[in-house]
Amino acid sequence: MKTNIRIVLVNTTHPGNIGAAARAMKNMCLERLYLVEPQGFPCAEATARASGADDVLASAVVCQSLEQALNGCRFVVGASARSRSISWPVENPRQCARRLLDESKQGDVALVFGREHSGLSNEELEKCHYLVHIPSNPDYSSLNLAAAVQVLSYELMMMAPEQNAHLKDEVREVVSAEEMESFFGHLEQTLIDLEFLDANHPRKLMRRLRRFYNRARPDKTEMNILRGMLSAAQGRKLYKAER
Ligand code: SAH
Repeated sequence: MKTNIRIVLVNTTHPGNIGAAARAMKNMCLERLYLVEPQGFPCAEATARASGADDVLASAVVCQSLEQALNGCRFVVGASARSRSISWPVENPRQCARRLLDESKQGDVALVFGREHSGLSNEELEKCHYLVHIPSNPDYSSLNLAAAVQVLSYELMMMAPEQNAHLKDEVREVVSAEEMESFFGHLEQTLIDLEFLDANHPRKLMRRLRRFYNRARPDKTEMNILRGMLSAAQGRKLYKAER
């Protein structure tokens, strides 16, 4: 759980959206929900739409003002459906997630969402260090509130180090440049032995094959297999020639 990140919903009209936002948050390992003057909350519809994320709803902090919800935050980002509502720095969700996570290492940060009908007021947007806009159809750019919470929470999830842990498993011990050179020499000789490559008219075959095998970046085991295949092909050719 990312405990330093607050999701702040300002003056939400539909309790169902509050529930759906809580669900989106919990799915993406966020838990701190702040509600500024919500209309009709708590409400059965919110609980129904939260569908199991009731704990996020139960621990939601209801505030009288945006200032109160932002109290103690070192960094604030406002989500805006309009790409250029006021002249304020705007980032995309990925940039914004990176910045929020960085800042959250040192203290509380907030991601603020506006009301369904009119978004955030200019006064509210001015309380933000940055705005984030989810790229969308310029003629129809306003996402459902909970959908916007989902997209931005997902980006925060993707930015977490554990999401990139699998990349470490992919670190492979590829063979060195000398081993590649030695392989290419072996490959060329084998192709000549097999009379597939005419040493007097090599054309671009070796260059093409080099490009192909370099792209694969073989590791040691793969290289052993390749070398074994070449030796087997050479041996068979020799065997045939001797018979
Ligand atoms: N009609 C409002 C949009 C309200 S949608 C307007 O024009 O501003 C409710 C909230 O969801 C917005 O205030 C914003 O916080 C978020 N949201 C919706 N679409 C978004 C988008 N494309 N990018 C970022 N946030 C968005």
